[in-house]
Amino acid sequence: MYYKVEHKYLDEVLSIIQLFYFGEKIIQVEEIKKEDIFIRSYLENHKSICTIYKNGKEIVTENIDISNLEENLFSNETARLIKLTVFKAIQNIRKLDMPWGILTGVRPTKKINELLEEGLKEEDIKELLKEKYLATDEKINLAIDIAKVEKNIIKNNNKDKISIYIGIPFCPTRCIYCSFSSFNLSRYTKSVDLYLDCLEREILALKDYINSKEIENIYIGGGTPSSLDESQFNRLLTIVEKNIKKPSIEYTIEAGRADTITRQKLKDMKSFNATRISINPQTMNDKTLKLIGRNHLEKEFLEAFYMAREEGLNNINTDIILGLCEEEPKDVLYTMNKLKQLSPESLTVHTLAIKRASRLNEQIESFNPSSFYDMQEMIKITKDFAKQMNMKPYYMYRQKNMIGNFENVGYCKEGLECFYNIQIMEEKQTIISFGAGATSKFYFEEQNLIKRAFNVKSVEDYIARIDEMIQRKLDIIRE
Ligand code: SF4
Repeated sequence: MYYKVEHKYLDEVLSIIQLFYFGEKIIQVEEIKKEDIFIRSYLENHKSICTIYKNGKEIVTENIDISNLEENLFSNETARLIKLTVFKAIQNIRKLDMPWGILTGVRPTKKINELLEEGLKEEDIKELLKEKYLATDEKINLAIDIAKVEKNIIKNNNKDKISIYIGIPFCPTRCIYCSFSSFNLSRYTKSVDLYLDCLEREILALKDYINSKEIENIYIGGGTPSSLDESQFNRLLTIVEKNIKKPSIEYTIEAGRADTITRQKLKDMKSFNATRISINPQTMNDKTLKLIGRNHLEKEFLEAFYMAREEGLNNINTDIILGLCEEEPKDVLYTMNKLKQLSPESLTVHTLAIKRASRLNEQIESFNPSSFYDMQEMIKITKDFAKQMNMKPYYMYRQKNMIGNFENVGYCKEGLECFYNIQIMEEKQTIISFGAGATSKFYFEEQNLIKRAFNVKSVEDYIARIDEMIQRKLDIIRE
């Protein structure tokens, strides 16, 4: 399909078109196209207008008066009304009930908490989301429930409490949907020791600053930290133990890929006092696991999970992704039944997003993503199972280009919320990050301001420019 935007709100219009034309080629053009669907968004006589043509013939026009604009609490009001116009026009021909309406932001719960903070009542927020953004009751209630859990945790934040993130950007193979800073370990085996040297140098340079604070959470993510070999993995945990004081709340280590887990690494995680680990099946269906390029099957995931239990790791998160290559609700039922038997402490349910930097994006033509209706059903299955597993939703976020414009939700058993995940979403705490591709966020409460220090993504650049990465953080600290 083709589209043309005749004002400055190009991204906003595109975000709505992508909701309805997920997985299809969407092409911006300058002239009206006489073939296929053509969507035109423009402003005329103080109106936002959206006209849709099919094979050159006008089939729908929607318009909304924008002559009396006020700034809206959620975003620029003009942008909202333009999105609404395009949304209503497309809905005439694509009859899909989008669960979040025209809300396309990544952190709906953060916004809700800010509105609560400003004194809005829960009922006002519900009405705002329903009337102005067309979100469904189900999603509004989910977001408000989660916002309340998060609020309860972030209310204890203060400027002397921080979290730490450490990134290990290596994986044994690259999953088809991946867009993270992650590099195939086999191509970097010679650089890993050098990488750890730089990581240690970066931590040492910030050691006095971070240890002068209360460190609430440490999170080692990636990539897949457990993809390091046993001695390198032990060295990583030793660097952390030697230089960063014990976190007061939690210490999470991602061991996402079952094919990287060994008994020795699990023993190390336990002896270095990790309080939470993550082992992620994504799906329990072997056929899908092969299609998405993971190096393990269900059997290896189960072995890794049981081994972790044997080594005394009693807070395990499992991630799954809905919508993977040709999966249907029955496949998700299979995955959830298996996970229920394992009884992990938390479960993170992602809906597939097709990221520009992923292999999936390049191969989208030959890939068959799950349909909107299947996604709806699969989300319901995971929600029901989470309930049966005595879990409640505690954090959520959304991404661009998700099938059906749904959401990612973290569920956990009572009292086992991952605080780090909540801090990342709410952005109300300083998070100092180390490693290639890691972004530090300095939060200034008085001004409600975040200053970011970015580390370069490439491993080679990170190693070559480590002093600059350190300096970027020190500059903000010394301001
Ligand atoms: S395990 Fe995670 S970081 Fe590694 S390739 Fe797969 S999606 Fe990317």
